[in-house]
Amino acid sequence: MTNRPLVAGDAQLKEARLTPDDGVFELAGPAPTWIWVHTCPTPKCSCRSALVLATDAGRETLLGRGTVVREAWNAGDGYAEVAAKLDELVVFHVDIDTVEAYPPSGPDPLDLAKHPRISRSRGADRRRSPR
Ligand SMILES: [Zn+2]
Repeated sequence: MTNRPLVAGDAQLKEARLTPDDGVFELAGPAPTWIWVHTCPTPKCSCRSALVLATDAGRETLLGRGTVVREAWNAGDGYAEVAAKLDELVVFHVDIDTVEAYPPSGPDPLDLAKHPRISRSRGADRRRSPR
């Protein structure tokens, strides 16, 4: 639940405001991965992009380290840049149509062979896991 006061009349901000649990999921597995995922908050935006934060260090780590991103998101203020600076979490954008992964702020798709943690968080390579 949101406890902070909202700016009067800012209905869009109210709709986009996230609580700590919004968009938090566990990907089950031998080492469970916790992810926080939200589609682009820009109204009527056509980018088809979702921001993903992920960690295998547990839910509390995800929520704790991700707080700055959620706060920037709620403030409508440069959340991608904030996310890009997190080195404790796996952070990437995913195109929800092609499932291609991108850096938090940048136009070029990531080479997932060089980013195994992103590849795992995305879930697509699960069946190719060595175990
Ligand atoms: Zn967008």
